Amino acid sequence: MTSVVQGRDAGGDLELSAEVAVVGSGASGAVIAKELAEAGLDVVILEEGGYVPPEVYGNWRPTQTLRHMARLAGAQVALGIGDSPVINILTGRTVGGSSTMTGGVCFRIPEGVLERWQREQGLTGYLARDLEYAYQSVEREIHVEEVPVQMRSRGSALFAEGAARRGLAIKPVRRNTQGCRGSGRCTFGCPVKAKLSVDLTYLRKAQARGARVYSDCLVERVVEKDGRAAGLSGRVLNGPHGGRGGKLRVSARTVVVCAGALHTPKILARSKVGRRSRQLGRHVTLHPGFRVAAEFEERVEGWKGALQSIYSDALAERGITFVGIWVPTNVTASALPGIGRELDARVRRIPHLALFGGMVHDEGGGRIFSVPGREPLLVYKMHPRDKARMLEGMRVLGECFFEAGAHSVILPILGSQPITSPDGLKAIDERIPARRFECAAFHPLGSARMGCDPRTAVVAPNGETYDLPGLYVADGSLFPTSIGVNSQLPIMAVATKIAWGMRERLG
Ligand SMILES: Cc1cc2nc3c(=O)[nH]c(=O)nc-3n(C[C@H](O)[C@H](O)[C@H](O)COP(=O)(O)OP(=O)(O)OC[C@H]3O[C@@H](n4cnc5c(N)ncnc54)[C@H](O)[C@@H]3O)c2cc1C
Repeated sequence: MTSVVQGRDAGGDLELSAEVAVVGSGASGAVIAKELAEAGLDVVILEEGGYVPPEVYGNWRPTQTLRHMARLAGAQVALGIGDSPVINILTGRTVGGSSTMTGGVCFRIPEGVLERWQREQGLTGYLARDLEYAYQSVEREIHVEEVPVQMRSRGSALFAEGAARRGLAIKPVRRNTQGCRGSGRCTFGCPVKAKLSVDLTYLRKAQARGARVYSDCLVERVVEKDGRAAGLSGRVLNGPHGGRGGKLRVSARTVVVCAGALHTPKILARSKVGRRSRQLGRHVTLHPGFRVAAEFEERVEGWKGALQSIYSDALAERGITFVGIWVPTNVTASALPGIGRELDARVRRIPHLALFGGMVHDEGGGRIFSVPGREPLLVYKMHPRDKARMLEGMRVLGECFFEAGAHSVILPILGSQPITSPDGLKAIDERIPARRFECAAFHPLGSARMGCDPRTAVVAPNGETYDLPGLYVADGSLFPTSIGVNSQLPIMAVATKIAWGMRERLG
């Protein structure tokens, strides 16, 4: 990236002005900034996280990346209500946002989901044909390509063999990569810059057209004047230990909040926006994710090859999508059952493990509360149907691995022991409390939903909030439902459509 003004190095207060102020430099913020800067608008981007050049984070160890680039060093959670798991939520807090941490997997939103948005929220302009040009534009910019068979890890190849025997159709994944060498660590930073996250693509193009990027700038609220958005206020994180320091003031006639589904509602709530519909912070979906490990006699060395290369949507109608995965050895070790010698023996067998993941197309149940402090409070009640989907997903993954010749299968159920035969999977049923699921989420969506009726939605279909003219939202918080597939490309396509509309209106 050419130049990022690092707030932490700036002494005192920061006062800026621009035509458009964008909050958040992640997948959606970068799209908005590029599209509007290329239209000749003066754009400034405010990012709470720090700036780390890709050649630096691409060589960090995973824990270092988490510590410096993930929100709360990766320790953010959704608190489970009732029979729900505590769900670990990973999002980026850095220039480039969560885009820097993705596995690169690219899906379009399934048509059935868009039809539901039209049916339930009146979103007529968001059908597949309406998004086609936006998808094409994003796919070109971030170089979406299919993962070739030879890039598959041995773990994924074994899974594919087992899936074929079980009758589960497998397809190649598309990813935003160019020149991938199969380093198997996309989520912690690519050592050869082959994963084309927005810090390498959209933000550079925005900067080339004059957009200014400021890191370490925490936006707290939208400033209102004469009944419309007039700018932003917050803090520069140049205080002791990177804490709140100088005052941040930005004047801008147009503000676009792209802080992600967890933080956008916090900024809106503090700005007293979203009150009319009483929907702000509600309808949060997470795509609760799980992974199953299987031990084979042969050395699998699952870290060699593309991190994610194949998927199956064979059970998508039932709300389950499977996607290949590898998790770094040190993280895998911490998730294995047993202690002492037993654990030691299992850790030594990690080279013999294959992993595969799944996620649930969940039915909502998350709610964000704006509480004092920097982070919102997220609670999540898992729907019994989603619990059943997770259990079915685990069973199916286990069956595929046994079909491929696995000795044993380790399920993400806390307190469970490895299962050594397909029959053992039959005991995986609804009697197991969801509280015991080891569950993670990477796609928080919802929280400021888009719709045609200001009584039931926070944001209009053109991205502008109903409560404050001149204030737009363009990130994952707009999505009225979960989508059942990875969210980056969908969010970028929707942001592109919103930016193109803004371009026309702002001239
Ligand atoms: C580990 C991981 C793996 C993933 N893998 C995939 C994948 O393979 N494929 C896929 O499609 N998706 C994947 N995703 C999801 C994808 O990254 C997100 O859907 C997408 O980046 C969300 O875009 P966004 O613009 O809504 O938010 P983000 O990209 O998260 O950007 C929000 C930005 O806003 C900043 N911000 C927040 N609050 C403030 C504030 N008050 N002031 C200033 N700045 C603020 C944040 O620091 C952040 O940088 C993954 C995510 C993670 C974490």
